[in-house]
Amino acid sequence: MKQPAITRSLLQWYEVHRRNLPWRGSADPYRIWISEIMAQQTQLERVVTYYQRWLKRFPDVTALAAADEDVVLKLWEGLGYYSRARHILAAARKIMSRFGGEFPRQFAEIRSLPGIGDYTAGAIASMAFGLPVPAVDANVLRVFARLDNLDQPIRNAATRAAVTRRVRSLQPAERPGDFNEALMELGALVCTRNPACDLCPLQVHCEGFRTNVVADRPVKEPKPGASKISMVSGVLPYGGKLLIQKRRLDNVWPGLWEFPGGVIEKGESPETALVREFQEELELAVEPETKIAVVRYSYTRYRVTMHAYYCRLAGDAVPLPVFKEALTGRFVSPGVLGDYAFPAGHRKLIDIMVDKAEFSRRLAQS
Ligand code: SF4
Repeated sequence: MKQPAITRSLLQWYEVHRRNLPWRGSADPYRIWISEIMAQQTQLERVVTYYQRWLKRFPDVTALAAADEDVVLKLWEGLGYYSRARHILAAARKIMSRFGGEFPRQFAEIRSLPGIGDYTAGAIASMAFGLPVPAVDANVLRVFARLDNLDQPIRNAATRAAVTRRVRSLQPAERPGDFNEALMELGALVCTRNPACDLCPLQVHCEGFRTNVVADRPVKEPKPGASKISMVSGVLPYGGKLLIQKRRLDNVWPGLWEFPGGVIEKGESPETALVREFQEELELAVEPETKIAVVRYSYTRYRVTMHAYYCRLAGDAVPLPVFKEALTGRFVSPGVLGDYAFPAGHRKLIDIMVDKAEFSRRLAQS
């Protein structure tokens, strides 16, 4: 069957202009899967480094499924959205237990794996197994919002369904994976936030360009404003070690490690909040000492200001923390902090702290 002109033009453009990425050209579902999950909400330049490191450590599903969760989270540290790493591990284990270690080949089976939605299942099914299934991500939605002059926000389920139908109608049976990749690549390189229409292979087919509404497509949605949060963290040295705890699984950054602390409540000073948090969550009486730093970082729509202090025990008793709001915790030597995965703000704090002379002094005195 003759391909539609859009399909032909797009595939020809892709042949010439596609970027050389380490997972491109591979039909290995494992590699495609890892690269796709890493690329969600992360810049591609960073993904390449993480991807190569990951494959060295976990070359296949079998190696990954046998890994300890802490090791997986550590390798993911810095990519953010840690539930992705936890889902990858759960999916690898499911592939071993349910599919005998073979990556499933059918869309519905791939879709049934933890952390894999329609988009990722479509990407794996089409690129690894040549199935004619759409893979509609934000790039593809943006391209079609302009190409077809869609006047509804692209987050709408109806808009997504319309774009999915459209991709299906254009997707060639013989190169379905290349077609999906070509659409995404066009969105990433040409039909970007500030589109380069003069370089676009689809310009003659573009309704948005023809009617001069490209700047208004996709239709903008009001964004929720950023929320500010003030937090406090306490670094408690004892016997040359530092107290850290592992975050609960039902909270942000599940399973990651941190210095104890929490949100500063209305009317509280950071110092008061620190004393309260240690008492409430660890049953430890502490006194804040010097301030180490004020660390600022963001996650999702939150802008966090974290006040970090050295603290010491209020009495002479041996500290026996009770981890009421954490999975577990322990005192660790500073030399092994690099073995634990921390959220970005706490990692930043570690970097600031270990560079200061006071750090060694406090540990020596503890
Ligand atoms: Fe996007 Fe411009 Fe190409 Fe239309 S012509 S698809 S707006 S880059």
